[in-house]
Amino acid sequence: MQAFQLPPSDTLRQLQQLARERILILDGAMGTQIQQLGLSEEDYGGHGAGCACRHHSEKPQKGNNDLLILTQPKAIEEIHFNYAMAGADIVETNTFSATTIAQADYAMEAAVDDLNVEGARIVRAALDRATAIDGKPRFVAGAVGPTNRTASISPDVNDPGYRAVSFDELRVAYGQQIRGLIRGGADIILIETIFDTLNAKAAIFACFEAFAEVGQRLPVMISGTITDASGRTLTGQTPTAFWHSVRHSRPFTIGLNCALGASAMRPHLAELAGVANTFTCAYPNAGLPNAFGQYDEGPADTAAQIAEFAAEGLINLTGGCCGTTPDHIRAIAEAVAPFAPREVPHV
Ligand SMILES: [Zn+2]
Repeated sequence: MQAFQLPPSDTLRQLQQLARERILILDGAMGTQIQQLGLSEEDYGGHGAGCACRHHSEKPQKGNNDLLILTQPKAIEEIHFNYAMAGADIVETNTFSATTIAQADYAMEAAVDDLNVEGARIVRAALDRATAIDGKPRFVAGAVGPTNRTASISPDVNDPGYRAVSFDELRVAYGQQIRGLIRGGADIILIETIFDTLNAKAAIFACFEAFAEVGQRLPVMISGTITDASGRTLTGQTPTAFWHSVRHSRPFTIGLNCALGASAMRPHLAELAGVANTFTCAYPNAGLPNAFGQYDEGPADTAAQIAEFAAEGLINLTGGCCGTTPDHIRAIAEAVAPFAPREVPHV
C-alpha cells in the first residue's frame, strides 16, 4: 500500500524513541470517572443551563458517554487532566463510540464530526495544561472502538450468512471518525477492544486513507480483547493469529486491553510479546467485575501484577482499562518505573 511510503509524523519518531528508553504510560478508564459525576439525563443531553451543544435527538442520551465531550466538556477535560497528572504519557479521547454506527443507537449520527474534533481538542488542552506544570511531553491518542456491530459473524443464529455491517460501511464510518480525530489534533490512532479483526482491518484501512490525505503516517496502536477462557478473540483468533492478520499495517504497538484482569491476561500477552516485532501495549481491567458489574481491585493490586509484566520484559506501554482510576495509573507508573522496556525482537 502506498501509505507505507508516507513520511512518519514527528510524533511517531518521538514515540518510537521514548518507547526504547522506558515503559510508557497510558491513561485509565473514562467510564468509572464519568459514573462518579452522577449525571442526569438533562446533563447528558445538554438541555441544562449554559450548554452550547447544538445536537439534539428525541432519544434519551443518558449513557451516551461520548456526547459529554460536547455537553460537559469541562468535566471531561478535568478527567483527562487528572490522568495526565497521575503519570500518563498518552491520554485517550473519550470517543470509543463516536462513529455513525455506534451513535445510531442514540440517533446522534449528526454529532460525529464534532465529537471527534472536540474530543481530540479537549485532550490536547488538558495535556497542555499538565505540561505547563511539569514540562513533560504528552500525546493524544484518538480512541477508535469496535462499534456494536461485527462484520465477521452473524448476530442471528437462524441466519448464519447475515451480517449486521459490511467492511465498506465500517471503513466509511471509521474514516469519518479518524479524519475528525486528526483535525482535532490526535497524535496517535488507537484501535482498541478489538473482538472482530475484520472490523479492525476496516479501521486500519481507513487510517491509511486518512494518512494519505494529510501526507504523513501517524502512529497506530492496535489492541485486541480476549473474550473466552481458551484465549481467543470473539471471532476465534489466538493472539498469534491476531498479530499475523494486522502486522502488514506496521503498527506502533500491538497489544491487549479490557475483558480480563492483569493476571488472566498474562499468558496471552506473553504469546503476543513472543511473536510481534513491534512495541507491545497491555492495559487490563482492574480485575474481574463483581456481581454488580463493579471493579474492586485496588491500585496496589493492579500495579503489582503489571509490575510482573514489566519484570518479565513483556511490555513497552501499559495503562488501565475498565475500573481503573487515576490512582491506579499513578501506582502502575511507579511500579513499572524501575524496569527496562521489552526489547523488540527483529523477526
Ligand atoms: Zn475495559
